[in-house]
Formats: sequence, C-alpha cells, structure tokens
Amino acid sequence: MSSLKEEPLTNNRLSSPSEFKGATMRTKGDFLIFGSPCIGQEEIDEVVASMKSGWIGTGPKTAQFENDFALYKEAAYAVAVNSGTAALHLAMLVAGIGPGDEVITTALTFCATINTIIHAGATPVLADVDPVSMNIDPIEVEAKITSRTKAILPVHFAGRPCDMDRLCAIASRHKLLIIEDCAHAIETEYKGRKAGLFGDVGCFSFYVTKNIVTGEGGMILTGNENFAARAKTLALHGMSADAWSRFSDSEYKHYKVTGAGFKYNMMDIQAAIGMHQLRRVDQWWERRKEIWAKYNKAFAELPVELPAAPEPETRHAYHLYTMLIDKEKTGISRDDFLRAMHKQNIGVGVHYLSIPEHPFYQERFGWHAADYPIAMRIGQQTVSIPLSPKLTDVDVFDVIEAVTDLVGTPTTE
Ligand SMILES: *Cc1c(COP(=O)(O)O)cnc(C)c1O
Repeated sequence: MSSLKEEPLTNNRLSSPSEFKGATMRTKGDFLIFGSPCIGQEEIDEVVASMKSGWIGTGPKTAQFENDFALYKEAAYAVAVNSGTAALHLAMLVAGIGPGDEVITTALTFCATINTIIHAGATPVLADVDPVSMNIDPIEVEAKITSRTKAILPVHFAGRPCDMDRLCAIASRHKLLIIEDCAHAIETEYKGRKAGLFGDVGCFSFYVTKNIVTGEGGMILTGNENFAARAKTLALHGMSADAWSRFSDSEYKHYKVTGAGFKYNMMDIQAAIGMHQLRRVDQWWERRKEIWAKYNKAFAELPVELPAAPEPETRHAYHLYTMLIDKEKTGISRDDFLRAMHKQNIGVGVHYLSIPEHPFYQERFGWHAADYPIAMRIGQQTVSIPLSPKLTDVDVFDVIEAVTDLVGTPTTE
C-alpha cells in the first residue's frame, strides 16, 4: 500500500457514497476520456508564440526541451524525436543492432516495442513476465539468451521499474546491451537511479496518454556521446549534425548526408508543449499517487486483483492503474466489464493483449500465446481505469462507483 495519508473521498456536493448512488451515471457529453492530458494556458501561449514567431519546426524550443529533460533526468545527452517509436528505432540503430541479432523483450508491451526491433532488421525474442510486477522476468530472460542475443529491452510496465539489478547483472555477464523502453517511466526510479539511464539508451514517449505529452513526441537519453550524435543525424535524414543549427541566423552552412536517415525530428510546436508539461511533472505525479491510493482503498474488498504496491527503494511513475478481472471471481468477464464501463461513459484501456496474441507475430515468428502464460493471463484479464491528474474528485468517485457496481458490493458504510 502507498504510504500516502489516505483521506476520505472528497465530494463537494454529497457527504456519503450512498447519497451519491443513482446519480453517478455520467451523461454522454460528460464522457470521461481515458488518459486525457492536462493542457495549461502556458502550453497554449508557448505554442501561439512559436506560431507567431514563424519558427514552428525544429529550433530553439526543441533544444530547450532537450536540455530541460536531460536536466530533469540527470542525463548526459538527450535527443528529441517525434515519437517514442522513433526513439526506440533510433536507439536500436545507434547501438548497432541489426540483421542476425536477437533482442529479448517482454511479452506484455505495446506493439511498437516489437515493431522497432523488426524495423532495425533484428529478431525479437519474447520473455514472459513476473505475475506480481508484470515486468519482464529475469529468469525468463536468461533462459532465452543465445549466441545471437545482442540486447535486452526491458519495459518499465505501468511505471514500475524492472528488476534492474538482475537485468544489468545478466547483461554484463553475457555482454549484452540494454535499451530501456521508458514510455511509462518518465518519473520512475530504482534504488536512487533514474529509469532510462541504466543501459545504453533510454527511450521516452510523449504521446497524448503518457505522463507528459507533446501531442506526438519522444526522447532518447544516453550517456554515450557518439550514440547521441548518431541519433541526431539519423533523426534528420542522415544530415550531418550541423543541420540542426543550420536554420539559425548565423551564416549559411552546407549539410552533408552521412547515411540514409529518417524524418524523426521533433518540432518546436511540440517542444513548446513539452517544456511546460515537464514543469508540472511532479505535481501531477502527486495527484496520480493520490488517485491510486483512493482506488486501492475503495477496491480493497472487491474480488479483483489490484496492482502490487511499489517496491521499496523505487519510485513508481503511476502511469497506469490496472486491475485483473477474473470472471470466476467477479461473475463478469473482462470484455463485458470494458463494455459496461464504456456504457457508463467512463473510458477504459487494455494494456495489453500479450504480444503473441496478434496474428502478424504468430505468422512471422510462430509464437503461441500459451507459451507466455503469465502475459497471456494478464492480457486477457487486465483493465486500465482512468488515472489522469486532470480527474476531479467527483470523476474519481464516478469511476469507483462504476467499478464497484460491476464487480462487487460497495464496502463503504
Ligand atoms: C506509447 C508506447 C510506445 C510508443 O510511443 P509513441 O510515442 O506512441 O510512438 C512504446 N512502448 C510503450 C510501452 C508505449 O506505451
């Protein structure tokens, strides 16, 4: 359980949950969007300033956001790109991962984790997850190592850090690279160290549902100067690094193409949003932690499996609040639960169907979901409920009421 002091649910209008009952049904126009971002006036003003300046592409605000993010994470180098997927793809390339190489990653992740390994020309190899942490299981990782294994790609699922002591030990024993998928892990820390800096490259996403957003966007962190320089070049057509400053008002410079790069650069309109989002990252983290504690308290007696408490000496990013719905215990299937929540005008998510459940991967790699039984079970039972810092106490109350109505008897007096 969270150490946060738990206060009773606050609700301006009504003093007890029972009084509220029957009035909870949200109207269609009041649909609670899953993962709705907080956009403040500062972001709006900064975007407008970019537009008025005429400098909307990659420029000073992108450089500033890279700087700010590197400072926040205490990273040596940061390269802003236009998605988390782009960050992962470039991470693989700068780390020299390519055809003939195998990359071991989790069976419970977003498809981009797997797709980018494929885009790099390498072969993804899946390891099952730990049932409690839902993170990649180091024992499974070690069992999957072959002479072709080049890297381990842990995903800090829902914001909970992976077991980095054991993963780093495995990597050093077998001389493997580590590339971290930190899409859920902006605030994550493990034993005083920040997620994204354990391995060779850390990859972040600022997609609309993530803990800070730029619309679309991503960031690469690395302590390796050469990796950072190559990522910058590859993110902008393979043009020599100078190209990033080519459009400033200093003298004209020719660029040189040094490789077949990509169009992955972040633009200032995105960075204008991110700069201000980052300033509120801790404030929002506190609010999500508070909502998390309210959910834990309200659902404690329900026949559902709640997320495990954060491990000692770690900082959980509280990106997702996931519950497991087992029909045997709740009387309602996960999919019926999803539909019923939606009907109550509450947005929900599934993170994730296990990777081997998707037809493409089955055909391409011959994977069977049943070979990754823990990821498969989680994928079939999991539901993510709203955890945005934008939720009001009344919103949180509505979610609690809807969940409680569907899976059990309210435990409140
Ligand atoms: C969101 C996400 C990505 C991809 O990030 P985008 O910015 O959407 O490209 C990759 N991995 C995980 C685990 C994610 O949740």
